[in-house]
Amino acid sequence: MPASRKAKGGARAGLIFGDLWEFDPAPETADPRLKERYDLFIAGRFVRPRSGRYFDSINPANERKLADIALAGQADVDAAYEAAGRAFRSWAATPGRERGKFLFRIARLLQERAREFAVAETMDGGKPIRESRDFDVPMAAAHFFYHAGWADKLEYVAPGRAVAPLGVVGQVIPWNFPLLMLAWKLAPALAMGNCVVLKPAETTSITALKLAEILQDAGLPPGVVNLVTGAGETGAMVTGHPGAAKVAFTGSTEVGKAIMRQLAGTDRRMTMELGGKAANIVFDDAPIGQAVEGIVDGIFFNQGHVCCAGSRLLVHEPVADLVISRLKDRIRVLRVGDPLDKNTDIGAINSRAQLATIRRLVASGLREGAVMFQPPCRLPDRGFYFPPTLFTNVTQSHRIAREEIFGPVLSILTFRTVDEAIEKANNTAYGLSAGVWTDKGSRILRMSTELKAGVVWANTFNRFDPSSPFGGYKESGFGREGGRQGLLEYARFA
Ligand code: NDP
Repeated sequence: MPASRKAKGGARAGLIFGDLWEFDPAPETADPRLKERYDLFIAGRFVRPRSGRYFDSINPANERKLADIALAGQADVDAAYEAAGRAFRSWAATPGRERGKFLFRIARLLQERAREFAVAETMDGGKPIRESRDFDVPMAAAHFFYHAGWADKLEYVAPGRAVAPLGVVGQVIPWNFPLLMLAWKLAPALAMGNCVVLKPAETTSITALKLAEILQDAGLPPGVVNLVTGAGETGAMVTGHPGAAKVAFTGSTEVGKAIMRQLAGTDRRMTMELGGKAANIVFDDAPIGQAVEGIVDGIFFNQGHVCCAGSRLLVHEPVADLVISRLKDRIRVLRVGDPLDKNTDIGAINSRAQLATIRRLVASGLREGAVMFQPPCRLPDRGFYFPPTLFTNVTQSHRIAREEIFGPVLSILTFRTVDEAIEKANNTAYGLSAGVWTDKGSRILRMSTELKAGVVWANTFNRFDPSSPFGGYKESGFGREGGRQGLLEYARFA
């Protein structure tokens, strides 16, 4: 059946929706091989927490419990640092080509178990299986492969200068890309010869602990990687530990600042990958159809739980009506629901707390006078869901234009000139990413020079590669992850 039809007189009528776009269910059925209980991973073994305490990990898609996760206290974090400290000397002295073999094995084992990991990631975090299968897991493997390649070529990381590892690094990661952030943190640290104590986020610890099984199967020497699970208090124990030579953190700007205060006055190195409020800028000469896809990907990928999400759309006035109407058509056909269904575009919000944050900020948008559009969509009865949402009539002072919502909510502003676009894009405390859509190469060059963002995508959005450094300006943090620059964050000059 045609998806559109000509109205009388030849004018194009609106798209026809309704059940035309319904698909049959297509559930992913691979077994995620979850355990009922996950212990801490210290010195190459799974060990019970000294407190004996565990917390529930639930599936945000249906609020059912998935597993018990160990709650690490100070004694456990101390034990993890002790194990990492013991392992460091021999790991650092292991020839780079041997370290590379371990990383290569980890990547290969992850590929072999890719489907199982994708299902586990989706059940634990709520993201659509399409994304965990096609993005998170392959990208995590790619990071291990990429750094396996570096491990025996470290003399070229900083030509003319010898590099050496830092020691034991403390790492804390968030819940939006649990396995991928783990790979971003572990792979460069290990390639360079460091040992690690890492804390995954409370709501998404499972794939980290499944990766620990792979570390065992790969024969990684005990203590090189130690995983301690728990909430923010455990995180603070990891970042504040005197055994850490460096702290690498990805998460909110608020917690990033707390960690910087905690480490002020120490000589510990830090990498901070914090929040963002990216401008996705569409000019009137942009390929509009392509730009609309980029806008959708920019804000609805991973339910908008993305630090570099294109959460502010800046659209050139001459094409604003056209872009907004195409966007509305496009989001009417996004499928929200069961993350394990292969047709789902927008899965579950990661936690009840995050859903409350999104609702709070959306309510502030309405209160402050922005106009909301949400397509009609049926949300599952159980679990945490939020429909794709657009706001027009947004001004720069609105909270929804300034604060990180971290949900499927787009704030749309307009501009008339290039200068105005640059000024509005940079009018934020953050500076992580930006997108530019235009036919003019010269304009792309000017925008990428003047936008204060660590990454500027041109005629695309949300492109990642292990060889490409990623990181922010201003309150989005400092330091880079990925590429040669990311490796140097884990090195000192010998
Ligand atoms: P957090 O920044 O609190 O979480 C990131 C990680 O830090 C988690 O592992 C967390 O543990 C841990 N942590 C929490 N407190 C401390 C502390 N004092 N010291 C050391 N580690 C700590 O993000 P939230 O999960 O609370 O999300 C809140 C908001 O942050 C979101 O609404 C979103 O706007 C933003 N956010 C941004 C991210 C980004 O990549 N830019 C990622 C995640 C969130 P645990 O989760 O177990 O409590």
